[in-house]
Amino acid sequence: MGDPKAFLKIQRQEAGYRPIHERITDFGEVEQTLNTNDRRLQASRCMDCGIPFCHWACPVANKQPEWQDALYRGNWKEAYDVLSSTCDFPEFTGRICPAPCEKSCVLKLSSDEPVTIRENEAAIVEVAFREGYIKAIIPKRNGKKIAIIGAGPAGLTAANRLNHKGYQVTIFDKAEAPGGLLRYGIPNFKLNKNIIDRRMKILKEEGIIFEMGIEIDPQKLPAGFDGYCFCIGAETPRDLTIPGRELKGIHFALDILSQQNRILEGATFSKDKLINAKGKKVLVIGGGDTGSDCIGTSIRQGAESVTQIEIMPQPPVGHNDATPWPQWPLVLKTSTSHEEGCTRRWSLTSNQFIGKNGKVAGVEVEEVEWIPSTNGGRSTMKPTGKTEIIEADLVLLAMGFLKPEIPQFPQNVFLAGDFVSGPSLVVRAMADAKIMVSKVDAFFNK
Ligand SMILES: Cc1cc2nc3c(=O)[nH]c(=O)nc-3n(C[C@H](O)[C@H](O)[C@H](O)COP(=O)(O)OP(=O)(O)OC[C@H]3O[C@@H](n4cnc5c(N)ncnc54)[C@H](O)[C@@H]3O)c2cc1C
Ligand code: SF4
Repeated sequence: MGDPKAFLKIQRQEAGYRPIHERITDFGEVEQTLNTNDRRLQASRCMDCGIPFCHWACPVANKQPEWQDALYRGNWKEAYDVLSSTCDFPEFTGRICPAPCEKSCVLKLSSDEPVTIRENEAAIVEVAFREGYIKAIIPKRNGKKIAIIGAGPAGLTAANRLNHKGYQVTIFDKAEAPGGLLRYGIPNFKLNKNIIDRRMKILKEEGIIFEMGIEIDPQKLPAGFDGYCFCIGAETPRDLTIPGRELKGIHFALDILSQQNRILEGATFSKDKLINAKGKKVLVIGGGDTGSDCIGTSIRQGAESVTQIEIMPQPPVGHNDATPWPQWPLVLKTSTSHEEGCTRRWSLTSNQFIGKNGKVAGVEVEEVEWIPSTNGGRSTMKPTGKTEIIEADLVLLAMGFLKPEIPQFPQNVFLAGDFVSGPSLVVRAMADAKIMVSKVDAFFNK
């Protein structure tokens, strides 16, 4: 531990975001970076607690105190070596992880100023790329061939780890390029796609074979492999089957998000396929992160207005007694997209879509009350009869994804990521893939 008293002298300093008026004119990453000296000072705030709650809270079990110390001492190579021993792609998690580690940092409890763990992680990996610490290493082959189906964070983590263990890995994906939701879900303003390409180049140099644009039927496994890893995500969006659902102008969130990301990669779409918010009154149904990504995307496309509604009540601001430290706090989250300008409303259910000439013109919503359960179960929703119409000529459904049904697979098939857990987080998909890799390795080394 570099400076045992730094946390008393140095305050949390976030790198912050590009000014709103500037960032909404492009799809570039919104987050900024600190200079090297300030970054090291931030790392010095880590107290190297006897019980590292941050480590416990991190799904991939990063050893934060160790790499904070190396970073504080200016030993970036050591910091990267420790970080990459547990996290395969810190350039992804360092950008888009919601950082449960920071919520459980002891400095969060004592001063509400946790160590900037996520930002420090991103800084370490950026230096590692810049200084050439990340080099392709061609492993010694062990004679076994593995097919990985799905090139999202789970599949890529599995490919990386199995390849380093000597397996010859081929990764199949039905999309045109690897990344899964990193590439075709998460907007560029949170994660620029050159960050994925940079890593894919290394993985290819290390001998991983990428077969893109190939959809694998789980019942017809490709021949010639000793084992298979299915990491195909949770792709079925939750629908809103209320009257008027057939009207034009109602889309699933991922349709607009993936299309926008593809457009930024040079793809073109015919006018009848294009989903664009320019000049529209946008209504996002669903108050979660995907909904928030729809807000930022709609604003950048030039929406006239954006409203986000959520069926659940507004969470408490700042602190929630129901989820005390070191748990993940269920509190109001305001994303950079929210800050860019939108109206947010809670406790609203949607009764019907209102149409005009076959196109959506609004949604009839109704206020609901949530009655707490008396036996510790889930609260129940009670409609109040107070209805109103929210005008909208583009409605985006962001109500999550269904948990996939897993078919029966033979013994040499392994599973990880959202495909197993249902919709989750990048870091959880990566953590799950690490466990899967241990199972694969144990299977072939019985
Ligand atoms: C809009 C949006 C924003 C998000 N933002 C964040 C965020 O900021 N932070 C965060 O931590 N998490 C976020 N998430 C969640 C996160 O992206 C997922 O939890 C994570 O990507 C799951 O990884 P995965 O590898 O299991 O699946 P996926 O990323 O879904 O990858 C699955 C891959 O399998 C491929 N595939 C599917 N079926 C087949 C088939 N039959 N044959 C071949 N290939 C197939 C797909 O094309 C895809 O590439 C977000 C999710 C969405 C939808
Ligand atoms: S991966 Fe997420 S939880 Fe783990 S250290 Fe990084 S930001 Fe924290």
